[in-house]
Amino acid sequence: MLLREVAYARPTTIAEALSLLAADDGARALAGGQTLINVMKARAGSPDTLVDLNGLEELKGIELGADGTLELGAMTTYTEIIRSSEARARPILGEVCAQIADVQVRNRGTIGGNVCTNDPTNHLPPLLAAVGAEFTIAGADGERTVPASEFFLGVYMTAVGVGQLLTKIRLPAGRRDGFAAVTLGVEGTCIVSAAASVNGSVRIALGCVDAVPVVLTPAADDADSVRAAVRDADLDPPSDVHASSDYRRHLAEVLAVRALDQAKGG
Ligand SMILES: Cc1cc2nc3c(=O)[nH]c(=O)nc-3n(C[C@H](O)[C@H](O)[C@H](O)COP(=O)(O)OP(=O)(O)OC[C@H]3O[C@@H](n4cnc5c(N)ncnc54)[C@H](O)[C@@H]3O)c2cc1C
Repeated sequence: MLLREVAYARPTTIAEALSLLAADDGARALAGGQTLINVMKARAGSPDTLVDLNGLEELKGIELGADGTLELGAMTTYTEIIRSSEARARPILGEVCAQIADVQVRNRGTIGGNVCTNDPTNHLPPLLAAVGAEFTIAGADGERTVPASEFFLGVYMTAVGVGQLLTKIRLPAGRRDGFAAVTLGVEGTCIVSAAASVNGSVRIALGCVDAVPVVLTPAADDADSVRAAVRDADLDPPSDVHASSDYRRHLAEVLAVRALDQAKGG
């Protein structure tokens, strides 16, 4: 299907991109286009102007700090993360990016676009919530950095407001992480997903069971404690053509334990 006529701008600085976004309520940032262009083709969204972020070198790249902190520009693609030696400091990130869709999507799709979409079936929101990532957002009033608990606000809604940009994502040091999902086919989106981090304390984040990742802090890093934490969360997941609410609740327990086992090296 042909797209409706849309204006196109390709800024070369973050400041220029912000002023283009601020100048027009109907302007939207274009990252990898793997969600946005499909939304436009389906006529579910119809921006007046696309502000293409692909010319913004400031939003690209992966830096590993001396303390093991990983900082990724929002426009870093899944493939760049998978291939990056720096990103191997937090191995789970590349491992999960390698599970997203197919090679074409991974070559174009970006970490920033994935979390800004906040589709509950996407792989990265629960993973980044579990590892304790922080998100830097730039706007007319300057920059602010928020934790995952303040970033993911609802289905397709995040703390990135109209006229603002997600610029970078920071992951603290840590290697003891896990991820497990039941997906629609081998390269499909998630029916339920779970991420675990046992770096110091144990944190589990569940995807596809609510509008935002559900973060749990079990009392201990054993399977019984994790199962109990999932049960105590009183999850009320949606039912749809892929899974009933009961089945999703069951999967949440099973996958949380699988993610925990991976995180503990089991
Ligand atoms: C066939 C197919 C299968 C897929 N399967 C999966 C899957 O299994 N798991 C999964 O996680 N994803 C999957 N996806 C989605 C894919 O990962 C997308 O890449 C991702 O959801 C969006 O990233 P993008 O860079 O393409 O962003 P875009 O589509 O360009 O943008 C998405 C939204 O985020 C906004 N945005 C993007 N970057 C910024 C920024 N820096 N600041 C502010 N707003 C921004 C845009 O304005 C837009 O509203 C699939 C996509 C396709 C086409």
